[in-house]
Amino acid sequence: NSRYLNDFEELQSLGHGGFGYVVLCKNKLDGRQYALKMIRLKDKSPPVNDRILREVATLARLQHQHVVRYYQAWIESRVAGNLEDSMWGSKTGRSSSFSCMGGSLSDTIGQEDMIESPYLYIQMEYCPRTLRQLFDSYRHFDKELAWHLFRQIVEGLGHIHAQGIIHRDLTPNNIFFDARNDIKIGDFGLAKFLKLEQLDQETTFPSDARHAPGVSIDGTGQIGTYFYTAPEIEQGWPKIDEKADMYSLGVVFFELWHPFGTAMERHIVLSDLKQKGELPAAWVAVFPEQASLLRLLMSPIPADRPSAVELLQDAFPPRMEYELLDNFLRTM
Ligand code: ATP
Ligand code: MG
Ligand code: MG
Repeated sequence: NSRYLNDFEELQSLGHGGFGYVVLCKNKLDGRQYALKMIRLKDKSPPVNDRILREVATLARLQHQHVVRYYQAWIESRVAGNLEDSMWGSKTGRSSSFSCMGGSLSDTIGQEDMIESPYLYIQMEYCPRTLRQLFDSYRHFDKELAWHLFRQIVEGLGHIHAQGIIHRDLTPNNIFFDARNDIKIGDFGLAKFLKLEQLDQETTFPSDARHAPGVSIDGTGQIGTYFYTAPEIEQGWPKIDEKADMYSLGVVFFELWHPFGTAMERHIVLSDLKQKGELPAAWVAVFPEQASLLRLLMSPIPADRPSAVELLQDAFPPRMEYELLDNFLRTM
């Protein structure tokens, strides 16, 4: 008997990553929408399962207005045919229907496995947009908005770090907006508990290859993480701490303050920043204070980067009226 099929109605695919996929669902009892992440468990390799289960353990431990809200998780075997038929309207076999999502799921897993495997289901808050999507349509740049969003991200990150967790994959793709346009940090698929760090460092799994040093392809085949990854992670330092997230935060901060006209411009400017530490001179002239904060956040020495708590203490100008900003966000 499937809890998933009993309790939820599938509405729409939200995408897929390296381990599984995410579906927008309506809970039949409470009538509300949720994002359900389904991750295939590999019964023959417990270390991989441990790693997958860590995502739930991490999410369950976090409760903050700027972290994606977690509701529950369970394991059940996925019922064959269900997803394919209801979401992609295909009754003609699952390989063709899954290819609608980009083709990688059936390629990597194989059809037989998909029918039999146990899946981990994670029910979480549905977040309709990502910061990446905002950046892609960033037309009316506004200083107050940039500070407002940055503050919410730093508050969420401060909570994550206070729980002893490093996110390790902080990018505009993993920073969401909820239905009220508040920031929610999500996707803890790569997160680590600080105290476990040393135990874990020896263990690497094949599914981690795309996060190996220098590799920049994420689960959906996009070049997603390269610009945001701290140098100590790329270089494989034995001990990584929460300052790795502060580096990623720096790049996000820069994008908040520097809208790009085209994907090409973004690529060139972020490459110069990453590889040479160079900032556009015209931008530095207009935003000298932001530039010095950015240089601190992106310092090659992790200890030189400010912490989230330090940022909250002295990096922000006085708050703006919330209503004004809310109106502003609505027009974007
Ligand atoms: P990777 O395997 O590299 O982590 P990913 O981050 O894209 O890839 P997932 O975290 O599984 O993989 O997310 C898959 C898709 O689902 C993404 O497009 C993401 O934006 C979307 N998504 C994830 N969580 C939510 C959520 N709570 N609300 C709305 N969409 C979500
Ligand atoms: Mg993601
Ligand atoms: Mg992910």
